[in-house]
Amino acid sequence: MSETPKDLNPLSRAAELLHHRGRALSKGEPIALPITTSSMFHLPGDPADSPAYGRVDNPTWEALEDALSILEDAPCVALPSGMAAISAALFASLGAGKRLLVPSDGYYVTRVLSSEFLAGFGVSVTERPTASIAEGGFADFDVVFIETPSNPGLDLCDLPAICGQVRAAGGITIVDNTTMTPFGQRPLDLGADIVVASDTKAPGGHSDLLMGHVATRDPAWLARVKDWRKMSGCIPSPHAAWALYRGLETLELRFSRMCDSAAVIAPVLAAHPAVRSARFPGLPSDPSHNLAAAQMERFGFLIGLDLGTEARAEQFINTSNFLRPATSFGGVHSSAERRARWGDDVSAGYVRLSVGCEPVDVLMQDLVDSLGRLED
Ligand SMILES: *Cc1c(COP(=O)(O)O)cnc(C)c1O
Repeated sequence: MSETPKDLNPLSRAAELLHHRGRALSKGEPIALPITTSSMFHLPGDPADSPAYGRVDNPTWEALEDALSILEDAPCVALPSGMAAISAALFASLGAGKRLLVPSDGYYVTRVLSSEFLAGFGVSVTERPTASIAEGGFADFDVVFIETPSNPGLDLCDLPAICGQVRAAGGITIVDNTTMTPFGQRPLDLGADIVVASDTKAPGGHSDLLMGHVATRDPAWLARVKDWRKMSGCIPSPHAAWALYRGLETLELRFSRMCDSAAVIAPVLAAHPAVRSARFPGLPSDPSHNLAAAQMERFGFLIGLDLGTEARAEQFINTSNFLRPATSFGGVHSSAERRARWGDDVSAGYVRLSVGCEPVDVLMQDLVDSLGRLED
């Protein structure tokens, strides 16, 4: 991986991302990132220090990892999905007899992976809710996995305090930063050992790829995660890596638009008579607001709305002109879903709304109109 400049502010990071690769080009090379699909590399004689085989080396992944590293201010390993990144971090750091703490209200697949697979290999798995994850301390854990804001409930926990306590107790912290992206929250700067993320969401941004990454400043964890990718064979497709690289080029632009719009829309929806309660870390009334203001760069683009009943939530989602009824989030198009339909521990009328890149006035009018049409 090439050297990336340190101590960049978010806007410098966004600018650096757009020029980092271009500055190193030789005359006649393409400005746009090429996709390399080769499994074999020309390799006569001594194979040391040369790309050798497509499961281990790929120039398109490497360009993507350089770009991700600029955003994270840390070396990154690209993986084929968010769950592949989470699996890499967990399988690299755990083993029989190790103790893992996971959020009971976070992305549910992480919990199922832990209880159905890691537990079977002798890892002891404990669950605690995000908002009270520090209660009981961390002395019993080798690995503490955190998701803040939690998906879908949007509860927060105090990253600097928890990372410090976990380190003092001899463990490591892995933070799933999917909901915020490196432009919204910087867990490594707040003390986390490893960041994992699903780049399927806002970083890809166009709902046309699955990817993920692991970021860490610890060379030993970085090497172990790279070895996991190599040995497990859990590798990204060059096409998906290329598409994500292209998405990253506009991430700052899209993410700021989405966060700006969410900040305008959230108070209006929260005050609407059809809304029973709302969650958005940017609302001064939100239980997480002070913590969010202290540790997040932005308040994000996800809004939680409790519309009371399943029927009202479904009607809202399905009758809006500018909401795709779909799972996942972070696309240029706004989307929403009722997470209770997957068994998440939220009320039947809870809608997770992902604010997209539509002009905010048009989107807000549509959402207000849809709420106004809800039957009692
Ligand atoms: C979507 C998501 C994942 C999983 O990502 P995939 O790319 O679907 O594998 C993990 N964590 C969080 C918080 C997510 O929202």
